[in-house]
Amino acid sequence: MTVNLLDFDLDALAGYCEGLGEKRFRAVQLFRWIHQKGESDFARMSDLAQSLRAKLAGAAELRALPLASEHRSADGSIKWLFDVGGGNAIETVYIPEAERGTLCVSSQVGCAVGCRFCSTGHQGFSRNLSTGEIVAQLWFAEHRLRVGGSQRVIDNVVMMGMGEPLQNYAAVVPALRVMLDDHGYGLSRRRVTVSTSGMVALIDRLREDCPVALAVSLHAPDDALRDRLVPLNRKDGIEALLAACVRYLARAPRDFVTFEYCMLEGVNDSDDQARALVRLVGGRVPCKFNLIPFNPFPASGLRRSSRERVLAFAAVLQQAGIVTTIRRTRGDDIDAACGQLAGEVQDRTRVHLRLPRAAPGATHPAGLA
Ligand code: SF4
Repeated sequence: MTVNLLDFDLDALAGYCEGLGEKRFRAVQLFRWIHQKGESDFARMSDLAQSLRAKLAGAAELRALPLASEHRSADGSIKWLFDVGGGNAIETVYIPEAERGTLCVSSQVGCAVGCRFCSTGHQGFSRNLSTGEIVAQLWFAEHRLRVGGSQRVIDNVVMMGMGEPLQNYAAVVPALRVMLDDHGYGLSRRRVTVSTSGMVALIDRLREDCPVALAVSLHAPDDALRDRLVPLNRKDGIEALLAACVRYLARAPRDFVTFEYCMLEGVNDSDDQARALVRLVGGRVPCKFNLIPFNPFPASGLRRSSRERVLAFAAVLQQAGIVTTIRRTRGDDIDAACGQLAGEVQDRTRVHLRLPRAAPGATHPAGLA
C-alpha cells in the first residue's frame, strides 16, 4: 500500500522525507506543492529534486476522495458527497459569503453521539476518518474552486459536518495543523472552528495541543433536558462542560465560546428556558449564542420553532447582553444545514435500536414533548 501524503502534517512529512534520506526543506517544498498548489503529480513538481521525485513515485501518492456527487444550491452553496468505501459516504459543504468562504468538513463516517435532533446521529456510526480523508475535503474544495492565480477561496473551516471531531482526536489534530500551517493552507486559528457536543477531557487536551476557535453544542439550559437531547451529557454534565469552556478560553484564539442551540418547538425554545440560559452562562462564560433553525427529518418527530419564537428567544438573550445570532439557513435546497449532512452510513453501532422513533403522527419522541 502506498503512503498517502495527505495523512501528514508538516512534521510528519519531514519525518517521512528524512526516512528517504531527504532534508526538511524538501518536505516543505513537497508540502507547498500539495496544499498550496494542489498538485498531485510528482512529475510536475518542477523544483523538487529529481532524486526525491523518483523515490516518491510508486511509494507515495496523494489520495483524493472519490467524488460521488456535487449539488449546487441556488444561494451558491455547494455540497459534495464523497465515497469513503464500504458503502459509506460523507459530505462536505462550501458556503460562500460576501467576506469569506466557509467549508464545513466531516470528521467521522456517521456519529456515535446520537443527538436527538441530528440526522447524522440517527444514522449511527461506521468509522473514523483518517487525517488524509479529513484534509482531502479541504484539498479538493480549495483547488476545485480556485480559478487560476493563488487567491485563497476558503478562509474559514468549521468542523461541523458529519461526526463528533473530538471523538476522532488523533486524526483531527494533525488535520488542524495542516490547515493552520503557513506552508499549507495558512488559515488563522480564529478561522478554524472545532464544534463539539461537549467532551470535557478532550476540550482540555485540545486547549494544550492545538487551540482553535471552539463551538459547543449546548441545546438545553439544564441537565435533565440536555441528557435527553445530547446523550453524552450524562457523563460530565453542563457544569463541568462550562468549566472546561472557561479553561479553554485562557488559550483560545478568540475570547468567547460559541454556543450552538438548535431551536426545537415546545422542547427548548421558551422564554423561561432562555432566561435559564442567561442565569447559566451570564457573567461566567464569555460567549455568543448561535440559534439554529432545526431542519426536520422524518425520524426525528421534532419540529422547527417558528420564526417569531426564535426572535423572542433571541431577544431574551440579547437583553441580557449576550451576543446572539440566528443562523441563516444556507443551502436549504441541498440539505446543507448543520446536522443535516446525511451522507450514507453503514451503521455498526445499531443506533437505530437505541434511539426511539416517533410514532406516526407524534409531535415529539417520547420523553421530549
Ligand atoms: S449533532 Fe454532532 S455530535 Fe450530535 S449526533 Fe450530530 S454529528 Fe454527532
